[in-house]
Amino acid sequence: MSTHKVIELPRRTVSSVSPLTGDLLREYEQHSEEAVENKITLAAATFRDYRKVSFARRAAMMARAAEILEKEKETLGRMMTLEMGKTFKSAVQEAEKCAFGCRYYAENAERFLADEEAKTNATRSFVRYQPIGVVLAVMPWNFPFWQVFRFAAPALMAGNVGLLKHASNVPQCALAIEDILHRSGFPDGAFQTLLIGSDRVNKVIADQRVAAVTLTGSVGAGSSVATAAGKAIKKCVLELGGSDPFIVMPSADLDRSVEMAVQARVINNGQSCIAAKRFIVHQQIAEQFEKKFVTRMASLKVGDPMDAATDVGPLATEDVLKGLEEQVTKTVEMGARVLLGGKRLDRKGNFFAPTVLTDIPKSSPAFYDELFGPVASLYRAKDMSDAIEIANNSIFGLGACAWTNDSAERDLFINEIQSGLAFINGMVASDARIPFGGVKHSGHGRELSHHGIREFVNVKSVCIQEGEPGKSRTE
Ligand code: NAP
Repeated sequence: MSTHKVIELPRRTVSSVSPLTGDLLREYEQHSEEAVENKITLAAATFRDYRKVSFARRAAMMARAAEILEKEKETLGRMMTLEMGKTFKSAVQEAEKCAFGCRYYAENAERFLADEEAKTNATRSFVRYQPIGVVLAVMPWNFPFWQVFRFAAPALMAGNVGLLKHASNVPQCALAIEDILHRSGFPDGAFQTLLIGSDRVNKVIADQRVAAVTLTGSVGAGSSVATAAGKAIKKCVLELGGSDPFIVMPSADLDRSVEMAVQARVINNGQSCIAAKRFIVHQQIAEQFEKKFVTRMASLKVGDPMDAATDVGPLATEDVLKGLEEQVTKTVEMGARVLLGGKRLDRKGNFFAPTVLTDIPKSSPAFYDELFGPVASLYRAKDMSDAIEIANNSIFGLGACAWTNDSAERDLFINEIQSGLAFINGMVASDARIPFGGVKHSGHGRELSHHGIREFVNVKSVCIQEGEPGKSRTE
């Protein structure tokens, strides 16, 4: 009889769990070490040929991806909603937005990466943008398609190949994206999903065949990935959290600013990096704003995200719900006043009540942290300068918006706000045509526009000296 004990390794799985019911929807075994090794090998081999594929051919495949996204937007939207709880209508819009992003890069990538002539002492000098190879994308669940496509479309159009490590709660979306790109005609190794946990990311970053990494996610994850990338001397782009200010001045249209404030807070059930989280209102209109804002937040319909009438669905996971509950409870214990909500809903699913807090203590989570859910924090300011000071008193610097019709206030806001995006009389949104990214702990590097596609390229300076054959120019 053998004396050996069989050591049972923990089952390594990634699961889709319904945020609405808590039911297990699908479960997948994580990819084994061998499978990951094979995928990296295939990616590196694919890059050797794919980098030479013409822009026209790449653009045709990307346009096909846009067609598939549009044609299948309802099926894909349903998948997103069931897997992470966003409303079905917003999920369908997300698929449409991905199609727009794909077309944008299909139509513009060649121009963005065309040679750039420069004047030097050489006969001819120019800059050539060349793909760098296999890029690892570590992505979050909150916009499970858009976050990935806004990486994949420019990366593939530039001639790079991608490996996706998606958030562990959205494996169905991760596999669907790989499938769409494959059906669009991209070669097998051009875009592959790795079903692995976050504890296995550093090993992929360290792999010599992987050239660079981009992460969209929390500050902690960003710091960990940046450390691994730094150790391996690899380029990394970080799109991290935000606690965006929403500033309202007396010259603004109050009703419109209230309406947009509510939308900006509860977009994606409150789980967006660029959702407005801190509402900083001029003291002259603060009371009126507060009343209207609370009334409107209270009127939101919370419920099944598949229902067309629902404004706010469940949070993506039980952990997100617990985290938000802890942050709100602590903030209230420290002295904040609850004007609305303040707790999870007494029903099945990861539901948190639309919440409005005021009198936020300086050292409380609502003040210094990111609140990922339908919880708004109200502040009062003496003037625009004071509002900007409150807004800038944060580790984050992703988006910011100001509602004002005063040109001096606008200038002050644009010049002094510490953020990567500054919107006036509009809610902060990502748009393929303008760069997206933050400062401070919101990360570094940019996605979208020509800035985004140039993050993962070798900017090669070429100088050509021409002279008489056999003679050097210094003779
Ligand atoms: P998260 O927990 O940081 O996860 C994001 C991704 O990073 C997931 O794939 C996750 O994998 C992975 N990850 C987590 N810890 C890691 C580590 N130590 N090393 C390597 N990978 C790691 O964030 P989330 O909860 O999914 O997303 C919410 C956060 O993303 C918020 O802070 C939000 O503001 C931010 N976000 C930023 C932007 C932007 O563009 N700036 C956009 C959207 C969201 P697992 O799922 O396996 O843990």
